[in-house]
Parts: sequence; structure tokens; C-alpha cells
Amino acid sequence: MLDKRNFYINGQWVAPQAGTDLEVIDPSTEEPCAVIALGGQADTDAAVAAARAALDGWMYTDPAERLAVVERIQKVYAARADDMARAISTEMGAPIDMARASQVGAGEFHIRNFIDAFHKIDFIAPLGDHAPDDRIIKEAVGVCALITPWNWPMNQVTLKVIPALLAGCTMVLKPSEIAPLSSILWTEILDEAGVPKGVYNMVNGDGPGVGTQLSQHADVDMVSFTGSTRAGIAISKNAAETLKRVHLELGGKGANIIFADADEKAVKRGAIHCFGNTGQSCNAPTRMLVERSVYDRAVETAVEVAENTRVAPAAEQGRHIGPQVSQAQFDKVQDLIQKGIDEGARLVAGGLGRPEGLNRGYYTRPTVFADVSNDMTIAREEIFGPVLSIIPFSDEAEAIAIANDTPYGLTNYVQSADGAKRNRVARRLRSGMVEMNGRSRGAGAPFGGMKQSGNGREGGVWGIEDFLEVKAVSGWSSADD
Ligand code: NAD
Repeated sequence: MLDKRNFYINGQWVAPQAGTDLEVIDPSTEEPCAVIALGGQADTDAAVAAARAALDGWMYTDPAERLAVVERIQKVYAARADDMARAISTEMGAPIDMARASQVGAGEFHIRNFIDAFHKIDFIAPLGDHAPDDRIIKEAVGVCALITPWNWPMNQVTLKVIPALLAGCTMVLKPSEIAPLSSILWTEILDEAGVPKGVYNMVNGDGPGVGTQLSQHADVDMVSFTGSTRAGIAISKNAAETLKRVHLELGGKGANIIFADADEKAVKRGAIHCFGNTGQSCNAPTRMLVERSVYDRAVETAVEVAENTRVAPAAEQGRHIGPQVSQAQFDKVQDLIQKGIDEGARLVAGGLGRPEGLNRGYYTRPTVFADVSNDMTIAREEIFGPVLSIIPFSDEAEAIAIANDTPYGLTNYVQSADGAKRNRVARRLRSGMVEMNGRSRGAGAPFGGMKQSGNGREGGVWGIEDFLEVKAVSGWSSADD
């Protein structure tokens, strides 16, 4: 079994000072595949102290130097892509081909887009012709704690570490203890790319331990968190005493509104998206809202997709979905499927238990519920499994009302051939993102939510600006321009 107990602090791999051991479980086999340490206060303090000591040297560099470091990371990340795909596939169960293309690919995509966005940031700019001696300076927030989940590990890590570096922040990354192997490899990549010592540090740990210690830490200026709404609330409370900036990317319960005039692939596309990554995506379109005149056909199509979705171990090549990430996640999804049955939704595909032939590993059956009403538990709670809820609607106003009747507001989806209707609906949906007719957001678009889906925006210019303070200076000498 791999021994991955060490942390990365001040440019070196160091043994934990206060750690307890945790086995990393391969969800395809339920077997341990590595052991890590969960850090304690002494480890957290050492990492934060290293980041604090490195801050002045990093934040006042010429931004071009920071860009050069990120360009080196980009090269080493590309060179280690296959290793990264294997790490992600083993730790969280993404099928190996999907891990390489989508999971690792998301990281490549974000690094490239941040490099483009960086050129659009004015770190110093005049306020305007009316105030010739005023300058607006953008400077690093300071020491950042970056806390990430297991479901899209490199997507989340690159969305935080790269803009933090470009902004001039120093940082401590605490990846998910359930899927830490990709972040350990990521740390090797940053080490090889020559990130100056202390600028980037990594400590493994859990929420009650390192996660809470970082949130409360007096020497941390900002927490950037992606994960559950539950943990986002705890972090906000723990951070309140020190009034640090808290950036939150939380859960979702996306509606996919399918009007009668939607293209014929809309239902299939929506169901495939819902089941992708075994349903473990915050932006999954898990509530399919279908106009009544095409409702029965939509249910049939969704059932076909579920029945044709192959479930198999992550190491197998090809197109399929893998297991849930953990026993806890498997149990949670089973409980919610049971709730759907108990509360009277019509189970039309999948259901309880594992798919046939898979007796070990946290595998769930791709499941479809029809005739769901929006007040049922399966329509309100984030399931994070391959479970689709289909809800009928009569007209545009009702579709918008159902879509917005949720505590979440991350991504909603609209399918219709009528452009004016699509635009109208997009304006009325209370979510940080709206994707229509199968078009996903372009490079550099901001990712983030409203309501209980969070308050930050990651990616592109917005993603870098989240790690910047704005300073207004008057009486500036133009001799320095
Ligand atoms: P989680 O909240 O359990 O854990 C996420 C991270 O937070 C882990 O590193 C964990 O150790 C840490 N953590 C947990 N409790 C904490 C606490 N009290 N204080 C500090 N840190 C704490 O979430 P998860 O199960 O790893 O991930 C799934 C969740 O993440 C889902 O709700 C999903 O929707 C959400 N998510 C959101 C986005 C987004 O951008 N909006 C993206 C991916 C995942």
C-alpha cells in the first residue's frame, strides 16, 4: 500500500507532527490503496506560518514572474497527465478514459484559460480622466486556505491554486481526505515546476481538524471552499471571528426545462448528463422538468438511457460510469432512492441495490423517477448519485416557478427551439449559470452559484479577481508610471 503520509510545507515534504492515519479506499474494489495522515493543529500552524513568511516575497513580484511559474506548472501537468488520470480514477472511481479526458482535461482547460485571463487584468490602472492622480491597484488578498472536494478533484484544485498564484497570494491546500492522491501528485507537479518555497503548501486532514483550523486561523486572510452547503455554513461561522473573506462554491439541484419544441436529443442529453460522473457533479441536471404534451415520450427516453448506461469498475476502458466515491455516499444514495419510493414517486428504471454482477464496490443502478413533485425529498435534496427526477409542467410560468423553488441556484438548463422564449426564461432563473440547447459555457466564463449554492465565481477574470483586493490611491506621482 502506498505511504502518502507526508505534507508539503515550505518547499519540503515533511512528516506530520500531529497526524492520525487514514486509509484511502478504492471505491471500485472497497480495498485500501494508500494511507495518508490527517494533520493536527501543529501541522496547520506550520503550513500557515510558511505561507505567511513567503507572502511579501510573492505578492510584490512582477506579475510576469508569477505567470512564468504558472506556465511551468502547465507543462509539468501535461507531462504527468496519465499518472494524474490513474490517481483520480483509483481514489474516486471515475472511469479511466473519462478521468483522462474530462477530469484531468478540466485542469488543463482551467490553467490555459487563467493564463489568457491574466493578460486582461490591470494590476494598476487610472481611475479616469476626471482624477489624473488616482490609481486603482489590485493586490493579493494574502494567505489563502483552499479546501476542496473529491468529485472533480483537479477541476477544483486548479480553479483555486492557479488564480491564487497569479494574484500573488500564498496558500495552504487541504484537499478532500477521501480523494487526496491527485492533490499529492499535484503537489509534486508544483514542486517540479519550481514554485518558490512557502508560496504553496499542502496539508491533508478532515473537516473537523485541518478544515476547521484553517477556517478559524487568525493568520489566514481568505478561505476558498468548494463542497457541501453543510460544510460551507460551518466554515462561514468558523471564519466569522476573524472576518476573513470566505468564497463558497456549494451544492446544486439543477432544473433542466424541456419545452415541447426542444430538439429530439434534449431528453437523452439531459439524462446522460445527470448520470455522468455517477451523478457526482454539483451542476448535474437532476430535476428534468418536461412540458406535459411530450412528457410520456420523455419518460420512455430517460428509461432507455438509464438501461443503456453501463456501470463498471473505474479501471475498465470505455464509456461507462463507475462507483459512488464511498460507502457513506452509496448509503446516502440508497436512502434517497428509498425515500423517493416511500413518498410516492414512480420508479421507472433502476432502484435499490447494486447493478447485476457487481457485488463489491459502491455501485449504484442508474435510476429514474417519474411523476415527481417538487416538494418530495428527491426533488429537494442533492442526491449526488445517478438518480433522475422527472417533473411535468404545463406552461412557461410554471416551469420557471418549479425551477426556482429550491434553496440552491447553481446551474439550470433550458431546451427549446424558440430563441425569444429561451432568453426570457434564462433571465428569470435564479442561478449563477444557465446552459441552453446543450451549449456549455465558453472558455473563461465564470462558474458559481446564487442562494445556497454559494457566493463566489471561479474561472476566467472573475476567478483571479476573487483573490485580489482593490486599493484606491490618490496623489499618485505620474513619474512612477
Ligand atoms: P464536503 O463538504 O463533505 O467536503 C468538502 C471539503 O470540505 C473536504 O476537503 C472536507 O474535508 C472539507 N470539510 C468538511 N467539513 C468541513 C468543515 N466543517 N470545515 C472545513 N472544511 C470542511 O463535500 P464533498 O462531499 O467532498 O463534496 C461534495 C459536495 O461538493 C457536494 O455538495 C457538491 O455539490 C459540492 N460541489 C460544489 C461545486 C461547486 O463549484 N459549486 C463543485 C463540486 C462539488
